[in-house]
Amino acid sequence: MNSNRKFWGLIACGVISLGVVILSSCWSVRDSSLPHSSSASAVSAEFPIDIQTIAHYSNVVDVLIIGSGPAGLSAAEYCARNKLKTVVIEGINPGGQLMRTSYVENWPGAPRALGADIIEALHNQAAQFGAEFISDIVTEVNVAAWPFVVTTESGLVIHALSIIIATGANPRTLGVEGEQRYWAAGVSTCAICDAAFYEGKNVIVVGGGDSAVEETMQLLPHVAHVTLLVRKKYLRAAPSMQERLEGSDKITVIYNTEIEKILGDESHVNAVQIYNNISGETQQLPIDGVFLAIGHIPNTSIFKNKLAMDEEGYIVVHPPSQKTSIPGIFAAGDVEDRHYRQAGVAAGSGIKAALDAAAFLTEHGFNESIATQIDDADAYLDVHADEPAAVTMIDSSAAFNALIAENDIVIVDFYAHYCSSCMAMMPRYAALSRTMPSVIFAKVDIEKSPQLAKDLNVRSIPHLRIYKKGQLVSSSNRPMSKKELATFIKAAL
Ligand code: NDP
Repeated sequence: MNSNRKFWGLIACGVISLGVVILSSCWSVRDSSLPHSSSASAVSAEFPIDIQTIAHYSNVVDVLIIGSGPAGLSAAEYCARNKLKTVVIEGINPGGQLMRTSYVENWPGAPRALGADIIEALHNQAAQFGAEFISDIVTEVNVAAWPFVVTTESGLVIHALSIIIATGANPRTLGVEGEQRYWAAGVSTCAICDAAFYEGKNVIVVGGGDSAVEETMQLLPHVAHVTLLVRKKYLRAAPSMQERLEGSDKITVIYNTEIEKILGDESHVNAVQIYNNISGETQQLPIDGVFLAIGHIPNTSIFKNKLAMDEEGYIVVHPPSQKTSIPGIFAAGDVEDRHYRQAGVAAGSGIKAALDAAAFLTEHGFNESIATQIDDADAYLDVHADEPAAVTMIDSSAAFNALIAENDIVIVDFYAHYCSSCMAMMPRYAALSRTMPSVIFAKVDIEKSPQLAKDLNVRSIPHLRIYKKGQLVSSSNRPMSKKELATFIKAAL
């Protein structure tokens, strides 16, 4: 831990760099529109403990950041550089939506960069300044206590002096017949993950925004044809994105059309029933895959009834700050931004949230001596101590057949390095392999062994299968937390 912090000076430097207006707000001014904000004494009265007694609590962090997309990572970089003890809980999809994008052309300063490379650079920069990362999922936040009590799926309990929520948003679904039935069996929200399974096939992309164009472009090198289904009579995507659709005879755009039903042969999608929302005319379109790119829903369920949200579940912040309705809790990125939803904007709001958090701590009596006490306290990361994993790599049908024939229970994880949710599950999978000696844990890299994936009819990743005495007994096509993974495996035993 870093115990030699020049907290006061660095916070002042960071704040000064934002200019006089924000400088004054950091040290004395509060947003009077916040229900919980008032004078310094009233705020202290709301918080039941004196900051001087903080050392009596275990697992105390100065700033806890929930989420590891551009907003969370930029916040982490600023907090850590300000010598605040900064912990990032990465969540179920570390890196967030950028990990599912290919090239990004509008990240400031990088004319063309892979989404995953942007995330890696942000992560490394934050880590270099001392931010710590925990691969876990927050399950509960007690916002009535202070320090805020944050519980994770693995049972970690963290006391946070301030919180930055950067949990982003998840892809929206259609809610039509057949969508759940054929989820990951022809229905997908991630072209970058699944395009390789649609080699030479015909697919539909639903949506008219930038994501729909992006998904189309990711599919194009693999598929025979993409039909872009747009419910309005125009695309919402930026003109520069729309230009990317031009000039390919492998793309057809159909306007004013929506999906009514997704149809299949029980194992996989083979058609969709579509209707023209002007004429009402319906038709069946034979198709091998349906890729949804119809927007996102903010990940705010753990904060429901705890923080002010709008009618769609976006956390309400109070511009020009990133303050939420609870002092000490800030939100940044797609979880609060229903309008811009750009990685660059998310990063900027993460930086604002970091400066707001630093100012909040300063206002509440945080100083170098307290910072040092917190730094020198317990090492909560010990619960995640790394032990060797027991996972077998399979790269051929012969090895696969031998493994399931020779062992009672075998679980196989099909993955690829370009699939962020697969990679996020990997440490959870490895961790479980240490605690379930009766189960053989195996994995197949579908990039290195595409034939094996094809032979086993794997059509989407992440994909897990459990074999008992050589027979397939269970499978799953979705990213799982460690707890969900354990439940999934135990249910099949
Ligand atoms: P958007 O909200 O911009 O677009 C969603 C699209 O899905 C709209 O065309 C919408 O139609 C359509 N839609 C919504 N619900 C349905 C439904 N039930 N049936 C059919 N169509 C539906 O979301 P995106 O994910 O495309 O983009 C989000 C943000 O991310 C944007 O700000 C975008 O600019 C950004 N982005 C940037 C990228 C880049 O620069 N490389 C790549 C991807 C995203 P309607 O228009 O009728 O509402």
